[in-house]
Formats: sequence, C-alpha cells, structure tokens
Amino acid sequence: MVSTVERDGQTWYECEECGLLLDDEDDAKAHEENCDAEDPSYLQ
Ligand SMILES: [Zn+2]
Repeated sequence: MVSTVERDGQTWYECEECGLLLDDEDDAKAHEENCDAEDPSYLQ
C-alpha cells in the first residue's frame, strides 16, 4: 500500500515496502507494484 505523507504543505506518496517517497500518486503505485522490497532475496 502507498501511504500519504504531508510535508512542507505538500503531499508525498510513500512506498511502504522500501520507504521511497514520490510526489506523484500514480508513480508511487507503479513503483510499488514493481518494488523489489516485496520479494526479499535474503529468503533464498
Ligand atoms: Zn518500494
């Protein structure tokens, strides 16, 4: 899930998988769908 963060009067969208902040909700959702943090390689 992408979470919203209010900072300096601007809304940011945070990837809950890796903590990346993006200023565009669509970009954040697109990122999270492909986020590597969702599939941790250390489990292999
Ligand atoms: Zn991410």
